[in-house]
Amino acid sequence: MRRTGYVYDERYLLHNPGEWHPEQPDRLKAIHKHLTEEHLLDLVVRIEPYEDTRSWVERVHDPEYIKRFETACQKGARIFGVPDCGISKESYAIALLAVGGVMAAIDGVMTGQVDNAFCAVRPPGHHAEKSRALGFCFFNNVAVGATYLLEHYGLERVAIVDWDVHHGNGTQHLFEADPRVFYLSLHEDPEFCYPGTGFAKEIGKGRGRGFTLNLPFQPRSGDWEYVDALKRFGLPRLRQFAPQFLLISAGFDAHEDDPLAHMKLTQEGYRDMGRLLIELAQETAAGRVISVLEGGYNLEVLAQCVEDHLRLLLGIEFPGGV
Ligand SMILES: [Zn+2]
Repeated sequence: MRRTGYVYDERYLLHNPGEWHPEQPDRLKAIHKHLTEEHLLDLVVRIEPYEDTRSWVERVHDPEYIKRFETACQKGARIFGVPDCGISKESYAIALLAVGGVMAAIDGVMTGQVDNAFCAVRPPGHHAEKSRALGFCFFNNVAVGATYLLEHYGLERVAIVDWDVHHGNGTQHLFEADPRVFYLSLHEDPEFCYPGTGFAKEIGKGRGRGFTLNLPFQPRSGDWEYVDALKRFGLPRLRQFAPQFLLISAGFDAHEDDPLAHMKLTQEGYRDMGRLLIELAQETAAGRVISVLEGGYNLEVLAQCVEDHLRLLLGIEFPGGV
């Protein structure tokens, strides 16, 4: 069994985007309750998130944007930038704490305290651009994590694999000119789905050309399409890149029962992708992988998919021997 870190903090529940909003605190509550009931939390190493992460967030996001977000929260605004980015007074501090969860997990892995980790954090991050909140996201958690790995730990090659059903426009844009970060996204075709980016022709820019790989899928694609594309196109490119660390933007909203998109992925499909990526990390990155929660809006499905994923990270058998 591997030593797997688990980041969770009750303060993550304080970010309240509005009663109507799908990105509810209940998402994390459902995950944490389910993992507790399955006795999986007895097997993980709890990791406490850092609070003061602003100096690292400033390396990714425009300081003026960060200030605007902080001020909007202080003033009690209920929306920041775009209508789907609902906020509460606590949102700024909690967004910093979400980044702090990823940074603490990275320290855990890089110092050898744990082998890998799962970060049950919110708000999510992959839509957040350098100076813009978008799609329920304010600070780009994985992007700050990748920057931390490059600049604090001096790594030369970090891969981000994003299987949230929506394209991670923010993550792509932040690293599209940077050959040190390989960004692979599997998502619903932007013709049909938010945020309208992530076409196959988007392959990176300048020195980063060739270090972005978008694999868009037609609506109603399922396990076969995802796993086949990952095996045929994603994994060979990842092997070639040979990341020293793998970050997974783990959104579970491509599941067939998720209310926000139109895909047919099942729990098994997510499990297969998780297994393949953890194997890849073992091949090239000494097993160093951190999965960071993005979307996933069917609470039951979300909790079960996270359970599976945690079991894969721990390297333990599935009940029933799957
Ligand atoms: Zn999503």
